[in-house]
Amino acid sequence: MATFNLLLLAGDGIGPEVMAEVKRLLGFYAKKGIADFHTEEGLVGGSAYDAHKVAITEATMAKAHACDAVIFGAVGGPRWDKVPFEARPEAGLLRLRKELGLFANIRPAIVYPALADASSLKREAVEGLDIIILRELTGGVYFGEPKTISDLGNGQKRAIDTQVYDTYEIERIARVGFELARKRRNKVTSMEKRNVMKTGVLWHEVVGRIHDREYQDVQLEHMLADAGGMQLVRWPKQFDVIVTDNLFGDMLSDVAAMLTGSLGMLPSASLGELDPKTGRRKAMYEPVHGSAPDIAGKGMANPIAMLASFAMAMRYSFNMGKEADRLEAAIAAALAEGLRTADIKSEGCNIVSTAEMGEAIVGELETLSA
Ligand code: NAD
Repeated sequence: MATFNLLLLAGDGIGPEVMAEVKRLLGFYAKKGIADFHTEEGLVGGSAYDAHKVAITEATMAKAHACDAVIFGAVGGPRWDKVPFEARPEAGLLRLRKELGLFANIRPAIVYPALADASSLKREAVEGLDIIILRELTGGVYFGEPKTISDLGNGQKRAIDTQVYDTYEIERIARVGFELARKRRNKVTSMEKRNVMKTGVLWHEVVGRIHDREYQDVQLEHMLADAGGMQLVRWPKQFDVIVTDNLFGDMLSDVAAMLTGSLGMLPSASLGELDPKTGRRKAMYEPVHGSAPDIAGKGMANPIAMLASFAMAMRYSFNMGKEADRLEAAIAAALAEGLRTADIKSEGCNIVSTAEMGEAIVGELETLSA
């Protein structure tokens, strides 16, 4: 039986509640002899601050470097609004992303048939939607220097952010995009603003070159990012994998998220550089949502984003694509049975708790695995 080492960082608020459902799932995989996931746990965010006065300790960082994948819940909450800036809960998450070099953020937007009416778009526009927004996560305008606000001395100030990309940063994210597309519908849409930005000119050139050299079998389309935003809400099914920079990816992935209707449904994966020795990448899997302090402790959280993030871990870190497909099918089956957590409730459906939803999904998995 394959063995993998996981670091579970549940975090704050609903983080531990949705992580409990991952543990239920791991119990199922161990019982069935499908895989043996060795787990370690650690504190991150507000809970780490309460215990150690930092958002993540050195010891937990060392475990994150050593494991095969980090499974992350959520951090933050009003309790920690006044802690020092460098120790705020989100600092733990940012440190993990930065030190593990997680440059590729994969956010699927999938519309399960049973939830097609939860989207703000018409059913026919989103039913069966399955696209990926691939966002460059460690470069671009959020990190470029100079990044300043200066006083011009005449009652005016000047704010500067710098959008900067080097060839290697574009090459590596483009390769991730083409590799993803090869395992899906074989199409990549690269989005930038080459009409007004130099980084867009370089982005366009480098993505095109990587395609021509290494991925001619994949269909490549270039689109200006503003037109891409429009197309994403007009007819999202035209896309397969969208690859774009940090800033445009931030916005376009939130737009794509809303196509699916609920924050409680959205998984994500962040991947680092391929290690040529092991053939593996550093990786972290987390739901897109936050710690939801408004519903924490009430057993109301939707565990699907967290469980679907684990499906991504099986697909991208453990080479268990079939098991990932099966877990996603189990989620779809539980929804088709009419089970809903409160955030996705609709008329005639059965409202269940976090644990009941987790239990039902594992039950469906049991049936599908029989
Ligand atoms: P949020 O995602 O926590 O919640 C937004 C709304 O969605 C809330 O009404 C919440 O109840 C609901 N929601 C979120 N996840 C849900 C789930 N799984 N099931 C059912 N309902 C769900 O965003 P927020 O309220 O803006 O932020 C709360 C805290 O989380 C803040 O401290 C914020 O900084 C932090 N945050 C953390 C992350 C992260 O850890 N990656 C991401 C976003 C926000």
